[in-house]
Amino acid sequence: MASKMASCIFCKIVKGEIPSFKLVETDKTFAFLDINPLSRGHALIIPKFHGAKLTDIPDEHLSDILPIAKKLVAATGATEYNILQNNGRGAHQEVDHVHFHVIPKPNPAEGLGISWPQQKTNMDKLKALFEEIKSKV
Ligand code: 5GP
Ligand code: ZN
Repeated sequence: MASKMASCIFCKIVKGEIPSFKLVETDKTFAFLDINPLSRGHALIIPKFHGAKLTDIPDEHLSDILPIAKKLVAATGATEYNILQNNGRGAHQEVDHVHFHVIPKPNPAEGLGISWPQQKTNMDKLKALFEEIKSKV
């Protein structure tokens, strides 16, 4: 973990070793503008705690994040927007330090493009899946 933190670009941004346009900082959280925005106001919110995926982050660090997302949305003036958090290469994660994107969606061409490949299922399959997952929650 220590060596991953040392080379992590987002840990370096938190420490000020890499410059960023900082929007919000609390004792647990840091938010800044994305360097390659999908739209005006695209920002990233990260826990100062280093972890690659959502499940690596303690709850008390996660609970600071959504209120900051709400503030940033208001500050951009966006009325349509996505909050996105990618985990793993297959899910489009490029930086292995948990980050929440705040992405204004001002028009169809800018912001997050989403494909939504809905699958067919049925009530029996959904019920079996429900019982499996519910038993592990
Ligand atoms: P991911 O695909 O991992 O969910 O998103 C990583 C995001 O981090 C991308 O939107 C990318 O533009 C942003 N990013 C990568 N490196 C830097 C950096 O050095 N500074 C800033 N501000 N954003 C970065
Ligand atoms: Zn990190």
